[in-house]
Amino acid sequence: MKFLLLVLIALLSINVSCKNDFRRLDNYTIKELSFFSQVGFYNHDCLTKWKDDINIAIKGNPTKRDMEIIDTIIKELKPLLGGININRVESNENFKISFTEKCPLGNYPYGVVDFKTKFMDWSSFRYIDLWINSNLKGTFREATIKHEFLHGLGLDHPQSRNTGTLIESNAEYASIDDYEIGMVSLYKFTPLDKACVKILYENCLHGGLNRTDFIEYLNVKKENTSHLKK
Ligand SMILES: [Zn+2]
Repeated sequence: MKFLLLVLIALLSINVSCKNDFRRLDNYTIKELSFFSQVGFYNHDCLTKWKDDINIAIKGNPTKRDMEIIDTIIKELKPLLGGININRVESNENFKISFTEKCPLGNYPYGVVDFKTKFMDWSSFRYIDLWINSNLKGTFREATIKHEFLHGLGLDHPQSRNTGTLIESNAEYASIDDYEIGMVSLYKFTPLDKACVKILYENCLHGGLNRTDFIEYLNVKKENTSHLKK
């Protein structure tokens, strides 16, 4: 009981100390912020992000092309992570990408992510296990790696469809033919995908932020913007 009380006090103090300064998001468009309100709150409707540097280890049987793709992803997304460093390592990783025929979470034909956060605390990631089916081909494989990677940073699928983003992903909805042929047209991060990663890692937004609080801010911003147009 005493332990539970201590945990409760600790959790409450985390929330109190995390003041989110929404004004610093003013440079983003309504479209970007609205899309973020759909994809930025992965766990229990709360914002979860990396607080530690991300150390990625690649396991299983990756191809040379897979390694190139992952290095490109790191280079492309690193500037968007608000100072969090992201590197490839051989051991002591906290982010593992395995290329394997059999994903441990079932023989799923695409990719799977398993998240581990701190006990009772969904504000930050502790470890990410990401599996990519090594039978995937071509640009479908590239799209899948990038899509799963976005999950690994803390983005969820949007509820809306045909957004043309990699986080909604044609990899998710691709047909079995695409799976066999391995060719899809969307396999690059779109500006909207990147904007969402950047918003997620803005230092003015803290892990643990509730979706409802963000939407409240967004509605006020929408209101003010429409007022200005009149
Ligand atoms: Zn997904």
